[in-house]
Amino acid sequence: MTNFISAFALAKHFQKYYNVPVKIKVELLESVTGEEYVIDGIKYYKNLNTIKDENGLTIKDKFFPYFKDLLDKLSKKDEINYEILFFYEYQKNPLVKQSLFEVLESKDKINYTLDPKNGEIRLRVPCPKCGLTEKHLSKTKIKTNNDSIMIESFCPIHGSFKTKIDKDSDSIFDMNVPLRYLVKILYLLKQDKVDDSLNVIVDGGDWSGMWPLRVYMEPLLKMKISDVPSVIYTPTILDWSGSKLSKRMYVGNEAYREYLKEGLINYSEFYNQYGEVGFERLYNEINSWVLSPKKFIRDYTIEYIDAILKGEKINYI
Ligand SMILES: [Zn+2]
Repeated sequence: MTNFISAFALAKHFQKYYNVPVKIKVELLESVTGEEYVIDGIKYYKNLNTIKDENGLTIKDKFFPYFKDLLDKLSKKDEINYEILFFYEYQKNPLVKQSLFEVLESKDKINYTLDPKNGEIRLRVPCPKCGLTEKHLSKTKIKTNNDSIMIESFCPIHGSFKTKIDKDSDSIFDMNVPLRYLVKILYLLKQDKVDDSLNVIVDGGDWSGMWPLRVYMEPLLKMKISDVPSVIYTPTILDWSGSKLSKRMYVGNEAYREYLKEGLINYSEFYNQYGEVGFERLYNEINSWVLSPKKFIRDYTIEYIDAILKGEKINYI
C-alpha cells in the first residue's frame, strides 16, 4: 500500500509540477516461485501462474482482485491512469527481448556480477506441459545465434524441449531477480529514446543501496552504457527491531501475528480493522511525504503506521 500510494502521489505531483502527461504502469510478477520441488537431486519450481488453490484458482487470480481494488481506488482519487502489465505480457515487447539478447551477448563480462557463485545467466523456460522449471541451469543450455536466443530445457516428467526467443516469438521465459532487473533497466533506457519519454521506476526502499550499484550499474558500465536509469525509492516499513516487515515471513506464515493486528499485514482485513477513515489517514500521510524529502527519503516502523491509521497526533522532531 505504501508503494502504490507513493507512486500515485508522485505521478500526481510530477503531472502538476512539470505539466506533462503522466501514466502509471503497474508491473506484476506471476513468474515467481509458487512451489519448489527436488527431483533426482535437481531443484525445480512451479510459478504463481501454475499453482492452484483448493478452489482451482491460480495464486495469481486469487490475489489479483485485491491489487486491482487498491489501484482502481487510487486511480480515481488521484485522476491518474494506470495500466497493469504482467511479466509474461511485458516480455513479449521486442525491446525487452533485444535487451535480454544484449545481456546474453555480454555474458562473459557480467555473469559473475549477476551470479557471483556460479556465473550463471539464469534464463529458464517452464515446461509447456506441466510448468516445472529448473531453478539453476543444471540441464538448461542457452545459445545466442544472430538475433535469436536458443534454449534447451529439461522437464523430469516430459523430457527435453527447445525454445527459441526472437522478436517474433511468443514463448514465455523466466529470469532470476538480478537478470530480470538488469534487462528491465536496459529496456527502459531504450524505451525512453524510442518514445521520447522518461520512465521512472518507483520501488520499495529495500531495493536501494548496494543492489543497484552491483546488479545493474556495474553491468551497464561493463556493457559500455553510460545512461543512468531513474529510480525513486519509497520508504521501507520496518518491524519493531528495525528489520524490513518481511512479506516472505507474513504470507502463509504466522510471523508477526503475536504482536501485530491482522489488518497491518493482510489487506483483506485492513478495512475491517481500520475502516475507510484509516485508508484516508494513510493516504494523506503518504501524500505529505512525497512533497518533503525529509519525510520521504527515510523509513517508517509499522508502529508509526499503526499510530497514523488510528489518527494519533504525531509531532515530527
Ligand atoms: Zn513437464
